[in-house]
Amino acid sequence: MAHRTPIVVGNWKLHKNIAEATALVTELKNQLGTVRDVEIGVAPVFTSLSAVAKRVEGSNLLLGAQDCFYESGGAFTGEVSAAMLLDVGCQFAIVGHSERRAMFGDTDAVVAKKTRAVLDGGLRAIVCVGETESERDAGKTTERVGTQLSAVLEILSSDDLERVVIAYEPVWAIGTGRTATPAQAQEVHAFIRKQMAARFSSAGEAVRIQYGGSVKPDNAQALMSEADIDGALVGGASLKAEDFAAIVKASRPAR
Ligand code: PEP
Repeated sequence: MAHRTPIVVGNWKLHKNIAEATALVTELKNQLGTVRDVEIGVAPVFTSLSAVAKRVEGSNLLLGAQDCFYESGGAFTGEVSAAMLLDVGCQFAIVGHSERRAMFGDTDAVVAKKTRAVLDGGLRAIVCVGETESERDAGKTTERVGTQLSAVLEILSSDDLERVVIAYEPVWAIGTGRTATPAQAQEVHAFIRKQMAARFSSAGEAVRIQYGGSVKPDNAQALMSEADIDGALVGGASLKAEDFAAIVKASRPAR
């Protein structure tokens, strides 16, 4: 089985001004500065990226953005390009978060274009996929996740894979306190893994697949012990240093 270093990322969404963001990241450095067996990232709002970049420089914390536009420049009011994210100190960008898909018109095709732009811009991409509650209830989970994934797989080559992380985030579990059970999550992660391996064989096996959706300190370990869950994308619980640190520690590989 491919060795995969777990990756745990905090998506701070539309929370924390510059002072709050720098305070949180400073506390995370204190609590997690010596962790080497889990990759750790934070994704503040755009306006805090510069300040947080200064704090994470030289540390084990990665900096990312919550979104990235697919064009490199021009008349696109309100957008930010991959080159600009790299310029401010980002190492990764999240694309296809369900909130962007639901509220900001990010279709599968847009998510694929954003993924390509992020990778071409020299960043890593965390690509979110996940079904809604009604899709799950209708037995369409793998169909929906498969469609979202295929759109992205079409624009990837095997050379990109080291810089790609897939985040499986069932929409019904995001911010609701309703987590997928470890078995429910594992089932979809195994499906995603199979799709990756079918397209890229062993290189696909090595791609990390995070789980996201109400991950908390008390459920993280059970989720992370599933074979195909390689870390977490964390919303609410990433806003408190102790909770996020506990999730990171629960994600450490067993020694
Ligand atoms: C998210 O928004 O990516 C997320 C997983 O949120 P929460 O942890 O709050 O469910």
